[in-house]
Amino acid sequence: MAILGDAKGLPKGFEIAAAIAYSAYPQLKDVRIDMILTDYGPPMMADIDIWSLFGTRKNRLYQIKLNDAVSTFFDPILLRSLPFDAQVGILAHELGHVAYYHQLNLFQIGKWGFNYLQSDEFHATHERTTDLMPVYHGLASQIYQYAYFVRNDPSCLEFYTNGKEFMDKFYMTDKELLEVISRYEKFN
Ligand SMILES: [Zn+2]
Repeated sequence: MAILGDAKGLPKGFEIAAAIAYSAYPQLKDVRIDMILTDYGPPMMADIDIWSLFGTRKNRLYQIKLNDAVSTFFDPILLRSLPFDAQVGILAHELGHVAYYHQLNLFQIGKWGFNYLQSDEFHATHERTTDLMPVYHGLASQIYQYAYFVRNDPSCLEFYTNGKEFMDKFYMTDKELLEVISRYEKFN
């Protein structure tokens, strides 16, 4: 907790995975971030508490919402269904969103949100860039393991078969990540 600072919320049952992901973003040490288990929404999402947007940036509150509903379409790819390293990887992806949002002012966030909703291309570029954030923060193996698991594990096969077009357009595939990682590691 000394490393994470006291502005972080840990989701029940996933405390260690969350702590590892947080520890990869020392620049977010003083930023208020909570991770909340929900029973709705997309599998994972990084959100900003709307009221905290109107204060100073120091008081901004980010909420990473983790769908933990039982018996839904998303079951195979929810946090609890993933291996430990893949959990760390996807939480590091969500924190990558936070690191990006935290640089933006209110006007820029509004503009960003508009583009994200309006343009599939913008949306895809943004998500695929965010998939690289764990790579730059020392969690390349973990995001790779996430991308691999959701596309190759037998438990995800049906989900991936149905969602392949969406998943491979908006997120980096395991093969794409592997290529980026091997190039990146040559230079570092
Ligand atoms: Zn994302």
